[in-house]
Amino acid sequence: MNQKNQNEVLEKIVSLAKRKGFVFQSSEIYGGLNGCWDYGPLGVEMLKNIKEEWWKFMTYRPDVEGLDASILMHPKVWKASGHVENFTDPMLDCKSCKSRYRMDTLGESINSKKKKKYLEAIDFSKLGINGGLNSLSDEELEEKFEAALTDTELVPLILNEMVCPNCGNKGTFTLPRQFNLMFKTFIGPVEDSGAVVYLRPETAQGIFVNFLNVQGASRQKLPFGIAQIGKAFRNEINTKYFLFRTREFEQMEMQFFVKPSADKEWYDYWKGERLEWYKKLGMRTDKLRYHDHPADKLAHYAKEATDIEYEFPFGWGEIEGIHNRTDFDLGRHEQFSSKSLKYFDEESKEKFVPYIIETSAGASRGFMAFLVDSYREEVVNNEQRVVLGLNSRIAPVKAAVLPLVNKDGMPETAQKLEEDLRTAFKVFYDDKGAIGRRYRRMDEIGTPYCLTIDTQTSEDNTVTVRERDSMVQERISIDKVKIYLFDKLNS
Ligand code: ATP
Repeated sequence: MNQKNQNEVLEKIVSLAKRKGFVFQSSEIYGGLNGCWDYGPLGVEMLKNIKEEWWKFMTYRPDVEGLDASILMHPKVWKASGHVENFTDPMLDCKSCKSRYRMDTLGESINSKKKKKYLEAIDFSKLGINGGLNSLSDEELEEKFEAALTDTELVPLILNEMVCPNCGNKGTFTLPRQFNLMFKTFIGPVEDSGAVVYLRPETAQGIFVNFLNVQGASRQKLPFGIAQIGKAFRNEINTKYFLFRTREFEQMEMQFFVKPSADKEWYDYWKGERLEWYKKLGMRTDKLRYHDHPADKLAHYAKEATDIEYEFPFGWGEIEGIHNRTDFDLGRHEQFSSKSLKYFDEESKEKFVPYIIETSAGASRGFMAFLVDSYREEVVNNEQRVVLGLNSRIAPVKAAVLPLVNKDGMPETAQKLEEDLRTAFKVFYDDKGAIGRRYRRMDEIGTPYCLTIDTQTSEDNTVTVRERDSMVQERISIDKVKIYLFDKLNS
C-alpha cells in the first residue's frame, strides 16, 4: 500500500470511530483540545474489555498482585525516578508560522535530496564524511543528518539552511531547547514552588514506592509482580496519528520483582508472554514484531529492553515496552527517601534490592492497534461491507437481537430474549430497517453474533444465529441462546 492509501485507511478508521461512537475529539464544540480524546459508548466498552483482558491475564496468576496508586505523588518521586532531570525532549519552533517540532523527529519530514542539500551547505567534514556526500548510502546519510542536528557547533548552521516543512520559510527555526514533558500543577491553595506536584507521566513509580507495602500485605515471595492500570500524562510536543501519541492516555504496567541472578530468565519469559497476549486476542501475527534496543540506545535505567511493535498504516510503532530495569528504581527510591526497600530472602538469609522486569503497555495505543488491525472492507454478494473483525472478548457489543418485523409477536419475543441476555452480556436491540442493513451496522462495530427472531420462532421456538466473519447462519433453540453465547464468546 502506498502512503496515500495508508493515510486514507487511517482517515476511514478515525471517521468510523467518530460516526459509530468509539472515539470523539475532546471538547469538540470548542474546537478540540490537541492530544486529548474522549471514548464514546462503544469505545468505552472496548477499552474496558482490553483492560479487563490484561487485568485477568496478569492478576489471576498467583504471583501477581494488583494496585491502584494515586496520580499525584510526592514531588521527590520524580526526582528519584530521573523524570525532573531527564524526561525531556529537545524541541524547536518556526518563528514564522509557530509550528513546533521535536528535534529528534524533524528529519522524518525531510526527504533525502533535501538532507543532502542542507549538509552540502555546512562543513560536513566535521561529521567524518571524507569521501563526499555522494559516497554515502541512504542509511548513512540519515545518520549523518541526525548527527548534524545534535552537534552543538553545526546545528545553528544547518538550521539556518533549513526550510520549515510547514510554511516553507528558510532559516526561521529557533535553536533547540529542552522541554520537560511532565504536566505541573500545585497542591493546596498557594501556587509557589514548594507546592509543585506533577501529573504522573507513567504508572510505574506508584508500584515501586509501594513495593514493600504490597509484598508485606500479600505475603508474596520473590519472584512476584505488581500490576496497575491507570492514566498517565505527558505534555508531548507533537501529538499525532489519532490515539497513538496523546497527552493523556492509559497505561497497563506490571513490574516483576526478581533475584538479580534471575533477571535474564524472567526478561525472556515476559517478552514471550506479552507478544502471545496480542496474538491470542486476534492481532495479526505478521503485523507484530519485536524491536530490541541496541546496547548504545538503552535508557539510563535499563540493562535490556525491547519494544513490541505493531505495523500501523503510517509504519511500525511501539505498543508495549519490556525492560530489565535492574535495581535502579528501588535503589534510587532508597537513596531519595532514606528508607530501606530491601527484600529479605528467608531461604538464603540475604537482604538485597530486587531487580525489576517491567512490561509497560499503552491501553489507548493498544486500543488503536486493535481497531486498525480488525478493520477490513470486503465485497460479499456484490455488496461492499465494512467489518471490524474484533476478537469477541474485545468487541464492545457481543450480540444483537433483531426482530425481523415489528409485528406478529416478534418484538415481544425479541425483547424478552434481550432482557435475559443483558444480565450477562452487552447486547444491542435493533428493529429499524431491512435485516441486511441491520447486519451491516453490526459488522461495522464488530458485533460477533446477530440473533434474528422470525416467523419460524413462534412455530418452533428457534432463532437464527448469524456469525459476523463467516456470515454462516444456524438455527438454535431460543432457550439455548445464552449458553451458546457463553461457549462461543469464551472459547
Ligand atoms: P514513545 O517512544 O512512542 O514515546 P515511550 O518509549 O516513551 O514511547 P514508554 O515510556 O515505554 O513509551 O511507555 C510505555 C507505553 O505507554 C508505550 O509502549 C505506549 O503504548 C504508551 N505510551 C507512551 N506514551 C504515550 C502517548 N503519548 N500516548 C499514548 N500512549 C503512550
